Amino acid sequence: MTERIVIRAGRLLDVRAGALLPDRAIVVEDGRVAAVVPGSQAPTTAESATLDLSGLSVVAGLIDCHTHLVGHVQEAGVPATSTTAAQEAFLGVRNARATLRAGFTSVRDLGSFRAFVCRDLRDAIVAGDVEGPGMQVAGAYITAPWGGGDVVGLAPDIRLPDDLRFGVVTSPAEVRDRVRRLLIGGVDVIKCIATGAVLTRGGVPGAPELSEEELRVAVDEAAHYGAFVAAHAHGAEGARRAIRAGVRSIEHGSILDDEAIAMLAETGTYLVMDLYDGEWMAEEGRRAGWPAETLRKNDETMETAIVVFAKARAAGVRMAFGTDAGVYPHGLNARQLAWYVRCGMTAAEAIRSATLTAAELMGRDDRVGTLEAGRFADLVAVAGDPLADVRALEEPVVVVKAGIVVRDDRPVRLPTPPAGQAWPGLA
Ligand SMILES: [Zn+2]
Repeated sequence: MTERIVIRAGRLLDVRAGALLPDRAIVVEDGRVAAVVPGSQAPTTAESATLDLSGLSVVAGLIDCHTHLVGHVQEAGVPATSTTAAQEAFLGVRNARATLRAGFTSVRDLGSFRAFVCRDLRDAIVAGDVEGPGMQVAGAYITAPWGGGDVVGLAPDIRLPDDLRFGVVTSPAEVRDRVRRLLIGGVDVIKCIATGAVLTRGGVPGAPELSEEELRVAVDEAAHYGAFVAAHAHGAEGARRAIRAGVRSIEHGSILDDEAIAMLAETGTYLVMDLYDGEWMAEEGRRAGWPAETLRKNDETMETAIVVFAKARAAGVRMAFGTDAGVYPHGLNARQLAWYVRCGMTAAEAIRSATLTAAELMGRDDRVGTLEAGRFADLVAVAGDPLADVRALEEPVVVVKAGIVVRDDRPVRLPTPPAGQAWPGLA
């Protein structure tokens, strides 16, 4: 039998139009939106339960296109070899829950050092064993040896087990082999490290690491499985190679030049820029005494990223929301919305980047990203007006995933007798 609930929204964000619609009712059947109607037309049959969010603003469940749910918050200098695979997985359980409770009902999880652990987390969430967002997962990093996705800092004569170096490649043939194995192994998206990384010791964010041919092979092989490639690229040359190779998205893009930005706009390649994590690293890194090299690279990429963000927006680049959660603590993802606004977006644009545009990037806009018929009933409800102050989304009051309430911070309201009715007395 169809299970139907009616969700009353005090205000509902139309994410396409960027407008709040007063008093709407979302009719949910079997976890999906069946219809959205004016509140006065809400069905009131005895069979349908009602979730009353009439005092709140309701937004489609948020999407973070760049997370690392598995493992520790990545601290500079803490090696990926200091935890067991089981520890990594249990940390993933905690991180997935924190992310969902923060209103992020879907994520694109762009890799873990231990291959396939994020795939297993995704499957545990689907099975209902773990509470977390819907996940698209990358499974590992396709990276050059000693590149931004390799485990570095070990003596050169220490050999790591395969699951810590699954995506380390030295030729186009190895790229094809590893991409194929990842996709047959059940990952959804391929993550290529096209340039150096901020948190990798010795890595140079501006330096290309994979060749254009290697990136092209990754895109070609992924396409055989209907999958996209996301390319980590700070520097302009690495990004240009990745765009020419046909990747779906450039991640970070913090030191892109005008030519690379123009190529993004022309090709429709998505740009996913993380900004809040830079603020967090600058503060936490100085407090905790991170290496000066890491802090310097972070400061430099932050400074240029702010400029690139504004230029890319002005050029009409498709910009999807991604935070690199795992570099900063999970659950603070929504703090980046205010960064997007600070760098030039309207609140409506920032929210669209974290809903509709994010879903389009993932090829999942038929199921998430809006509260339209056929999509999952994923939503976050907040007090206040998120279009007037996007920080309202930093404090979700109610979170619903596929029609199920996973967070409700409102005080329980017990029924009260109608006005004028006498209380039962002892006499
Ligand atoms: Zn990342």
